[in-house]
Amino acid sequence: MPELPEVETLATDLRRLLTGAEFKSVEVLWPRSVAMPTAEELVRQLPGHQIQDVSRRGKFLVLSLSGSSALLIHLRMSGRVRVEPATAPVDSHARVIFHLADGRRMLFSDPRKFGRIYWTADAHCVLGDLGPEPLDDDFTACDFWTRLSAHKGALKPLLLNQTVLAGLGNIYTDEALFAAGLHPLRKANTLSVAEGERLYHAIREVLQQAIWHRGTTLDDERYQDAEGRPGGHAQHLRVYRRAGQPCLRCGTPIQRTVVGTRGTYFCPHCQH
Ligand SMILES: [Zn+2]
Repeated sequence: MPELPEVETLATDLRRLLTGAEFKSVEVLWPRSVAMPTAEELVRQLPGHQIQDVSRRGKFLVLSLSGSSALLIHLRMSGRVRVEPATAPVDSHARVIFHLADGRRMLFSDPRKFGRIYWTADAHCVLGDLGPEPLDDDFTACDFWTRLSAHKGALKPLLLNQTVLAGLGNIYTDEALFAAGLHPLRKANTLSVAEGERLYHAIREVLQQAIWHRGTTLDDERYQDAEGRPGGHAQHLRVYRRAGQPCLRCGTPIQRTVVGTRGTYFCPHCQH
């Protein structure tokens, strides 16, 4: 599932590829992929709008369009966005095809069909509940500790909660908790200020490294960038999907457990 580094990589690609492009027509092959407005309205009214910028908020792609509206794409489990020539064969999992006036197309494909597209003049209506951006300059370690200390729950589900912090998913939560030496089931409100600071820096470092490597593509997942290339971060993961293999710090076998419904990887020695 694409998380902050994968969506950031896509946003950077799409900004380079699509700024200035204009929508010529839209084909909706799976209407439920369009959450807002109706698929019919999108098809009728989007053509003629120009893409002015592309950015990211949490795990959402944000395409800023002419006329002060935004096209938001939430990839969820398996969504992909690719820019390709109109002559390329159409992916069998294509759900929405955005034809561009310059002859290319932006394809939204999604094998598992959980991804959603929103076109709205009020992006806040969709994004308003998201917590702070972990890489923003104005998000501080002190902010983070204050947020955590208000919760009695375990760290892992809390970090996955997009209203607490935007952008983390299963992979980078496990990686950040390992980097900080904190057990996934540790109660958030028992963290010292120093531990909170450690986790804050671990999250930022893990995300920045993964962005540097253009995201994580695992064998059974289909994350690709906007031009169909996989990310390079999988080989740098330190605990995720490494159950039974020695911890890179202490040699203890990495353990897998389930927290909530999510497979969770940790070192029982480094994260006791
Ligand atoms: Zn260890």
